[in-house]
Amino acid sequence: MIHYLLRTKDFIPKEYHHSFFDIDFVSLYQQGYRLLLTDLDNTLISYAEEIATKRILEKIEELKNIGFEVVILSNNHQPRIDKFVKDLHISGYASAHKPLTSGIKKAVSGCSKQYKKSEIIIVGDQLMTDIWGANRYGSYAILVDPIKAKTEKWYTKLNRKIEENMINKIKRKESEIYKELSLDKR
Ligand SMILES: [Mg+2]
Repeated sequence: MIHYLLRTKDFIPKEYHHSFFDIDFVSLYQQGYRLLLTDLDNTLISYAEEIATKRILEKIEELKNIGFEVVILSNNHQPRIDKFVKDLHISGYASAHKPLTSGIKKAVSGCSKQYKKSEIIIVGDQLMTDIWGANRYGSYAILVDPIKAKTEKWYTKLNRKIEENMINKIKRKESEIYKELSLDKR
């Protein structure tokens, strides 16, 4: 299986939470983080939804009020991203090709300010795209549970298989970190 060829440490997030709403953004801001690059599908909304729920809308407002610049970074296509960001007044980048870092670099360079890697948080629900990409780029990676895994496409389901093996590998090789992050709860 492919996970034997991959380095475990590239897939370890800095934090793991059940949901985007469980992340302590106030504390992260106090620690010096300023830019939030977040995945869309199954991180903020499910594949079945197109626009932000009231709760997401309020959360993004709250993040802006804390002082974060919020940007959507998605591997999905532009029309879906455009539709989502329309009422939120934030930028959104589609076809990010995570885990490649090209999309991350493009999103960062399109920001209102120049952010250092040490000021950037990347949030997502997939180890093989979001977390790997964040770690390759060198920013703070936060993993959340997928909102609704059932509606995922075939390639995401395949990624989930590899992800499951990788989480088992983290459990074997990095048991302390595995426990610390509560990855058994995933
Ligand atoms: Mg996702």
